[in-house]
Amino acid sequence: MHRRNVIVVGAGPVGTVAALACARFGMEVTLLEAQERIDDSPRASTTQPPTLEILAELGLIDEYLRVGLVARTFQFWDRDARRLLAEFDFDRLKGETAYPLVVQTEQHKLANMAIARLRGIGEVRLGERVAGIDQDEGKVTVRTETSEIEADYVIGADGGRSTVRKSLGIEFEGYTWPERFLVITTKFDFQAALGCCLRNYMAGAEEWTNLFKVAGDDLKGRWRAVYNTREDEKEEEALSDASVRARLGRAHVPESQRDYVHLNLYSVHQRVAKQFRKGRVFLCGDAAHVNNPIGGLGLNSGIHEAWHLANLLKGGADLDAYERIRRPLNIKYVQEQTVANKKRLEERDPEARERRFRELREMADDPQRHKAFLMRASLLLSQ
Ligand SMILES: Cc1cc2nc3c(=O)[nH]c(=O)nc-3n(C[C@H](O)[C@H](O)[C@H](O)COP(=O)(O)OP(=O)(O)OC[C@H]3O[C@@H](n4cnc5c(N)ncnc54)[C@H](O)[C@@H]3O)c2cc1C
Repeated sequence: MHRRNVIVVGAGPVGTVAALACARFGMEVTLLEAQERIDDSPRASTTQPPTLEILAELGLIDEYLRVGLVARTFQFWDRDARRLLAEFDFDRLKGETAYPLVVQTEQHKLANMAIARLRGIGEVRLGERVAGIDQDEGKVTVRTETSEIEADYVIGADGGRSTVRKSLGIEFEGYTWPERFLVITTKFDFQAALGCCLRNYMAGAEEWTNLFKVAGDDLKGRWRAVYNTREDEKEEEALSDASVRARLGRAHVPESQRDYVHLNLYSVHQRVAKQFRKGRVFLCGDAAHVNNPIGGLGLNSGIHEAWHLANLLKGGADLDAYERIRRPLNIKYVQEQTVANKKRLEERDPEARERRFRELREMADDPQRHKAFLMRASLLLSQ
């Protein structure tokens, strides 16, 4: 058996960043991924300023910007009234970060570019699923379906259903929302039609819609329209052509232009692992926490963890700092904020809705509160 310094389990965006960072810091790294290729279904794309700083440190930023879209602003709308409520501008973060902007780059692009950089300085094994983990005081043994590999440390970045977390017996505390989220990918140009920007949160009492533009693999641009489903809505109904077209209609797409290119329906959770570390094994990204995607925080916080952990492993000291710092940060800045973001969109009581809208407008109009809101929303306060 060959001895590694670090084995990273899972080649999602978090695992690939963790592996690349560790390899660049001089560690001997093996990245194990169950699938033969990186999953390119529509998932996260919003990349916050502190994450862009990390990608710059890793030498990925130029390519990342080239295959994504820069979004300097985001907007809140009252969807059904087709009314712009407030706009927030990352330019207010000038002086706080080298990247006062958000970049919309699909997460599979990040994983693929990090893997390309890792080859040559680390080992990448695709199509090798981890089945279990054992550890003693001196080493960790990772069992895949075909081999056993030993390492000093293991980073479990194998997503929400993490085998690593389960094999350590770590509880995933929290809950699952009763409704699901539906992502409709369409080439309809919402910016031209509605005058919105590239990231929009559209509140609605029965149903809300969030609109994001991404570049697409062909860089020609497409939109992701994200909706909540009804709690009692069956999968067949949510994915039926008629209901998808009706949903696009409620987001002001004219009847003749309601074609779409992809559908994605998924369950949404708010969960945090009871421990982020057990002995020589660490959890990172969705393996450690999952949350609703409103605000684009989950993946970003996972990348911050990957970077933090790689730096701690490089130094070799105070590895306990990882759990001590990252777990409370996730609860305070990611879980709390994403739950608040969801509530802001779905408020049903008309008076409370108007109050929330007014608060948003007042916050956007006040330079100090505008900046303070962005500092938190961009994770600059919690990187
Ligand atoms: C369907 C869906 C839609 C989403 N949409 C959005 C969105 O619109 N906006 C947003 O901000 N966030 C979204 N998210 C969340 C976002 O995608 C995650 O936060 C992000 O993918 C986390 O990255 P990760 O690297 O931690 O995990 P993942 O991206 O899940 O990567 C984990 C990797 O580990 C691999 N793996 C799993 N088990 C094993 C094993 N036993 N051995 C080896 N490899 C293994 C998997 O194949 C995968 O490649 C979505 C998530 C899902 C599931």
